[in-house]
Amino acid sequence: MGHTTNPAIFDGHNDVLLKLFTAGQATAAERFLTGDEGAIDLPSAKSGGFGGGFFAVFVPSPMDADKTFAEMTKDAYDLPLPDPINWEDAFPIVMSQAAILFELEKQDALTVCRSAKEIRRCLDSGKLAAVFHIEGAEAIDPDLNTLEVLFQAGLRSLGPVWSRETMFGHGVPFRYPSTPDTGSGLTDHGLRLVKRCNELGIMVDLSHLNEAGFWDVARYSTKPLVATHSNVHAICPHSRNLTDKQLAAIAESNGMVGLNYAAAFLRPDGKMLSDVPLEEMIRHLDHLIEALGEDRVGFGSDYDGAVVPEALKSSAGLPKLRAAMRQHGYDDALMTKLCHENWLRVLEETWGA
Ligand SMILES: [Zn+2]
Repeated sequence: MGHTTNPAIFDGHNDVLLKLFTAGQATAAERFLTGDEGAIDLPSAKSGGFGGGFFAVFVPSPMDADKTFAEMTKDAYDLPLPDPINWEDAFPIVMSQAAILFELEKQDALTVCRSAKEIRRCLDSGKLAAVFHIEGAEAIDPDLNTLEVLFQAGLRSLGPVWSRETMFGHGVPFRYPSTPDTGSGLTDHGLRLVKRCNELGIMVDLSHLNEAGFWDVARYSTKPLVATHSNVHAICPHSRNLTDKQLAAIAESNGMVGLNYAAAFLRPDGKMLSDVPLEEMIRHLDHLIEALGEDRVGFGSDYDGAVVPEALKSSAGLPKLRAAMRQHGYDDALMTKLCHENWLRVLEETWGA
């Protein structure tokens, strides 16, 4: 079979909104449109065939990301969970980052998509497709009124926790080597959150839950199980990665996993260092395909939120990833599934047609 297609990559996770927010909201749209030093901006996305993805809104903890990443270059590490963040502190930050997302839409840089059909239309026309995602539910109140309003505004995906405790559950700490089984799971508030997300059509993201929380969602959620940006524990025994038992549950639910480009979750030695050959990503993809089947694997880059392989530092480098996949023998049909078709399938199943 000839390799004629060059499928756009729709991606399960990026932190570009946090990056734009941190550098200053007033000039955020301008910087995104003209291009800057980050992994994703409009010119890089266009040139690399980055078709869009989940744009995370995220409230950072005071501990500086560079310091965290430096700690994660050691042979072994166990970062303490950052302190919980109050609703009062989280809410305005979430509103600011969401406002940046809608400003990007107003400036015609992207479309905020609320259905799989809208994403497909974007991929066909070359318009960047964005799904409004919140990573860590600190800005959601216990009565879930904010959830209702955010859904009406376009929220379609939510992680009950980042690697930090919320009233809804317990996040998994960054620990290597470690199983993901690091503590207790969802609270009663968390179970109600999952139920309401199911009813509204908001995808529940498993990526930062510990193993107990994962199994709680698996038990209570009526939708396919999805980890937007996580990798294979059997290859890289990091607390953030998924065991084969978890992968089996995801397969059974007809869910999916987005491959995270973060070096610490790819490299067998767990180090957040960018000298990672693309073959290491292919190894994870092969394992995910073996465990989940061809229809349940995609990408979830963690762009602008992690140290990634040197070759993929910018989304403009994505043709190198496609070339590595082809060289490994993935045919056109599989390429298209991994690059975006599987995400469209899961989102249609989760949100409804
Ligand atoms: Zn994350």
